[in-house]
Amino acid sequence: MNMQNIVKLPERTLLGPGPSEINPRVLVALSQPAIGHLDPAFVSLMDEVKGLLRYAFQTSNRLTFPVSGPGSAGMETCFVNLIEPGDKVIVARNGVFGARMQEMASRIGAQVVTVDDEWGCAVDPNKIEAALRAHPDACAVAFVHAETSTGALSDAKTISEIAHRYGCLTIVDAVTSLAGSPLYVDDWGLDAVYSGAQKCLSCVAGISPVTIGDQALAKMKRRKSPARTWFHDLELIDGYWSEGGTRAYHHTAPVNSIFALTEALRLLKQEGLDRAWNRHQENSQQLVSGLQRLGLDMLVQDPAVRLPQLNAVRLPVDIDETAIRSRLLNEKNLEIGAGLGPLAGKVWRIGLMGYSSRPENVSFCLDALGSELGGAIQTAVGE
Ligand SMILES: *Cc1c(COP(=O)(O)O)cnc(C)c1O
Repeated sequence: MNMQNIVKLPERTLLGPGPSEINPRVLVALSQPAIGHLDPAFVSLMDEVKGLLRYAFQTSNRLTFPVSGPGSAGMETCFVNLIEPGDKVIVARNGVFGARMQEMASRIGAQVVTVDDEWGCAVDPNKIEAALRAHPDACAVAFVHAETSTGALSDAKTISEIAHRYGCLTIVDAVTSLAGSPLYVDDWGLDAVYSGAQKCLSCVAGISPVTIGDQALAKMKRRKSPARTWFHDLELIDGYWSEGGTRAYHHTAPVNSIFALTEALRLLKQEGLDRAWNRHQENSQQLVSGLQRLGLDMLVQDPAVRLPQLNAVRLPVDIDETAIRSRLLNEKNLEIGAGLGPLAGKVWRIGLMGYSSRPENVSFCLDALGSELGGAIQTAVGE
């Protein structure tokens, strides 16, 4: 076979907000010859993936499976199935992704009540409680566990306890937290949770693990009209994904991506969640110390709510941050993330997600930033 001229791209060190680097074992799994999406060998892989996802989410929810689509498709799946037109939903906004939740809920026709916190801060559970007291007719609270646009971790357990006390379900964005920060879907009572494969699972983009609890299923069953979606209709999709079910064709599963996801989840299970969480923490601590030695401050002030997998660092004034990032990319094959929205030009977002979270990546990044910033920072200090 002629292997010349196959698509070839530069090899980057990916320390941005996702995608993260993919473990070579996952790449090998991805490149296996395809098999049919109803092949018994594939069906047994589907069952394995569901079991492994339950481990990753720490749940026994039956309806736990990977949505065919990126994290935003997982978000859409949760909102469009759980929320009906007219439902009142409390949405916490402390960054880009809370705002995306608000947008989706509004488009479904929900009455959205937003609770705002400053970018770089966690969601304030007291504000959620105040909103619930002011809106006793709310039926759901939606929030982002790990805000990738700022690097802040919110207290999912406390928010979920409060929401339940007021008779609300929780819809939780765990796109960046899954496999990077402690997440206990069952212990914390999270009702509908979605994630993404290209962040701390270090798999290909375009798959979104989702888990739906019994209370959320019950709300879906009570719907007055079917969800206004065909592709994301959980009842239809469950017919294909449920263990021992009819495996009715709904859409062609992204078979090779599922091969890759299976391997990524096996690797996570081999390492163990605790060890994976600790590894993220340790590598982040090394990075943060190094950034502080360079004279830089972290955006998230309180270390207790700082994400280890997404390190947002404040930039010195008077640097051309775009030029530096493009030199890092073009000369060192190193990708780091820019700030979004109000943080554009003010922070860099350095991701240490999944397989990217390795000591050699931390040193490489610190060396590269040191040589770019060394001059600029010394000048600033000398002034
Ligand atoms: C990346 C991300 C998403 C969106 O995932 P896509 O795969 O880009 O659609 C949603 N929420 C959070 C917190 C994210 O980090």
